[in-house]
Amino acid sequence: MKTMHKIMTAALLAHTLTFCFPSVPAATAAGTASEAAGTQKDVREAKLPNVKILATGGTIAGVAASNTATTGYSIGSTTVDTLIKAVPEMKSIANVSGEQIANVGSPDITNDTLLALGKRINVLLSSSDVDGVVVTHGTDTLEETAYFLNLVVKSEKPVVVVGAMRPSTAISADGPMNLYNAVKLAGSEEAKGKGALVLLNDRIGAARFITKTHTTSLDTFKSVEDGYLGMISGGKIHFYSESTRKHTVDSKFNIEYLSELPQVDILYSYQNDGEYLYKAAVEAGAKGIVIAGSGDGSLSKKGEAGAKAAQEAGAVIVRSSRTGGGTVTHSAQDDEKKFVTSDSLNPQKARILLMLALASTNDPARIQQFFDEY
Ligand code: ASP
Repeated sequence: MKTMHKIMTAALLAHTLTFCFPSVPAATAAGTASEAAGTQKDVREAKLPNVKILATGGTIAGVAASNTATTGYSIGSTTVDTLIKAVPEMKSIANVSGEQIANVGSPDITNDTLLALGKRINVLLSSSDVDGVVVTHGTDTLEETAYFLNLVVKSEKPVVVVGAMRPSTAISADGPMNLYNAVKLAGSEEAKGKGALVLLNDRIGAARFITKTHTTSLDTFKSVEDGYLGMISGGKIHFYSESTRKHTVDSKFNIEYLSELPQVDILYSYQNDGEYLYKAAVEAGAKGIVIAGSGDGSLSKKGEAGAKAAQEAGAVIVRSSRTGGGTVTHSAQDDEKKFVTSDSLNPQKARILLMLALASTNDPARIQQFFDEY
């Protein structure tokens, strides 16, 4: 096993050296070979984009006990510096540096982490020293963070959220290639002005539309109804479409002076559900409730009664759908009942938008406008 490891390391090193240092032109008559090579290297480095990697944890930084284990690994074992060192090929496409924002599984990402991340990205991207940002993240809630950044980042510069389905120790780990591609995308001209992007498995998704659709498959991130924005193929970035929904520089949401986000909870609609769920949410401090309604966002009679009671206690109600696809129809009855509908946002993304909306208003009509535009 050790010999095998040595052979693989030597092969990787050889590959790395070839990849990072492509053919250097012969020395000119005016200088020595090493001077010429040095000048070439300086010119090349000067042209490379500066990409900052902000690490938050997840499987991409996970380590398992064996190289065949793709579940049951420990998250948070690898730091951003180790992630960067593991993909030396990135040096040929960007000047990469890293910061550790968190090191947790993505179900443990909190509103505080979101605010810290969004604020840090805004500071970084306002500097001419940073051309793009990559966020490494667990895949379970990756779409929530990506959509949050899509709404609060105040820059046209690329923000790419990336993860991996297999831990770094697995055979065929997908993290290194995903990270390499994410850095390439974050440093590119093509990705500017497209909002926060999600990159896994060569596909480029818009934070607004992409969602995790499978528990373990590498091909889990899909934009079910709306398609991907593009892909990276043959080492080239291809964009085919873009989101028409407001984001980044066109977004009204500003977190600069926000120190916390209002509590919004998600309640799932199902047979035999009860009013008590709504009461519990409001009693625990919910200022908004997103309902993962059945079908076209429908509620049971008890759900309706619970929602009404929650409204009377001051919470804003958003009807979303548990189906995983489609737009929730907004009817005159919604206006009468002061229900907001989530458009095509799934419940977890509707929660993100509702938190940001509630930070400035609790008027359902104004909040509905946000859902129609973002
Ligand atoms: N449970 C992990 C997380 O979301 C899964 C992953 O990263 O893919 O942090």
